[in-house]
Amino acid sequence: MAYTYDDQNIFAKILRGEIPNDTVLETEHSLAFRDITPQAPHHVLVIPKGPYVTYDHFAAEASDAEIVDYTRAVGQICQILGLEEDGFRLISNAGRAGVQEVPHLHVHILAGRPLGRMLDKA
Ligand code: 5GP
Repeated sequence: MAYTYDDQNIFAKILRGEIPNDTVLETEHSLAFRDITPQAPHHVLVIPKGPYVTYDHFAAEASDAEIVDYTRAVGQICQILGLEEDGFRLISNAGRAGVQEVPHLHVHILAGRPLGRMLDKA
């Protein structure tokens, strides 16, 4: 499958510094910042700096260094936010079925309140 990356998406603009963000962590290959419309007391988005649309795109085409950096960045955010004890939820929406709004890979880290069951039945 060929993945097409749109470099005008909002997270590409954040990475280029064209739009401000509330950064929690920046590493060589990843950036983590607070969601503009938080759905929990902690709602952080973690994105790779490279042009990847979805998690499967990233897994297929990113370098080992990018994948290690990204995975560790997610773990570091959990430590920074102190989520070990109470826990958290990781979500990565992809494509139409996943209802992905922004076509640049991101995981949502949600925490700070009971988050309910994973999915509505609808
Ligand atoms: P998706 O539905 O693609 O998984 O989630 C996209 C997320 O990006 C949403 O939770 C939305 O609130 C967030 N978002 C959209 N635009 C911006 C922005 O300009 N800045 C930040 N920090 N978050 C944004």
